[in-house]
Amino acid sequence: MKRNQIVLGKVMNIPIGVDHSWFLIFILLTWMLADSAFPEKYPGMPVWQYWVTGSIASIIFFMSVLIHELGHSYFAMRYKIKVKRITLFIFGGIAEITAEPKKASQEFWIAVAGPVTSFLLALIFYLISLATESIKPVYVVFSYLAFINFILAVFNLIPGFPLDGGRVFRAIIWGYTNDFEKATKIAAMVGRFFGFTFILLGAFQIMGGNVIDGMWIAFIGWFLESAALSQLQIHELHKLLAGRTVYDAMSKSYAIVPYDMTIEELMDNQILSRGRRFFIVRMEDGSLGGMLTIHSLSDVPRHQWSITKVEQVMIPFSEIKKVEANYPLLEALKQMDKEGVNQLPVFENGELTGILSREDIITFFRTLHETVR
Ligand SMILES: [Zn+2]
Repeated sequence: MKRNQIVLGKVMNIPIGVDHSWFLIFILLTWMLADSAFPEKYPGMPVWQYWVTGSIASIIFFMSVLIHELGHSYFAMRYKIKVKRITLFIFGGIAEITAEPKKASQEFWIAVAGPVTSFLLALIFYLISLATESIKPVYVVFSYLAFINFILAVFNLIPGFPLDGGRVFRAIIWGYTNDFEKATKIAAMVGRFFGFTFILLGAFQIMGGNVIDGMWIAFIGWFLESAALSQLQIHELHKLLAGRTVYDAMSKSYAIVPYDMTIEELMDNQILSRGRRFFIVRMEDGSLGGMLTIHSLSDVPRHQWSITKVEQVMIPFSEIKKVEANYPLLEALKQMDKEGVNQLPVFENGELTGILSREDIITFFRTLHETVR
């Protein structure tokens, strides 16, 4: 989500971003309000007023979503958990919290803060709407905002992980059982259950002729289901990889090529015929000097392949992130994500001992998954 977003600024020292998908939902919501919802409920206003009230209601609604996320963030920061950024996207908002809470009670307060914030906003908007009943366009905006924030709070309290309610639910099970793993698993399964329920509800709506609402409900259900499923998979991955080291998963055999081999020779003899994707380069003095990936070859134009030596293209070990063989595997995977690389050279006592690639980790995970059952 990082690439497709526009940064709006900072609130409480947290960068606020808007994902491109957000514009679609903003336009859809404004259009829905101005073209049908408001005219049906409050007839008799000039058309332009519906569009102005629709746009203003949309903007304040998304500000409400942002305030909801700030509610979560406030509590996270109170517990010294850093909030990397808040992003608004098609399904609302996400506050990216950099670490899992350490205690069930912390998770409870961070999660519950969002819906509570939305309830408070609903109440404030409701009071404003009461006070402005005689000014129709203002009343229209605030009574809608009161309603939508109330819905947002209730929807988020559905006890399916990763919704707020699911986190509250997980925190409660976690608090009672003292078992974070088990709590995550139960909460994610309940999340999937609600996801499927929404998909079914949506399907019934569609069959009943209510196509747009039905599709929307089914879409939310699908989103919920897949989010819960990926949480279960991450949970499974963590469970299986916990306690494993880089050494367990790395490839111990790797191709070594001489420093003076040309790219063309490398392509013909190694990449095309043997399907290898990365190489270690042996230098003139016999030492292992660096690593070469298919990726790094893409910078060399085709016509220079016959005159470029691997030595010129390789990334020297001194410039690459490396890992120690006894390093925790999960940490290494996190590091690969952070650096955006697909493989890391593995060192032991200062000497290259293997290569760890994402494929190695996946293969290792599959083998474990099949044997540890
Ligand atoms: Zn929330």
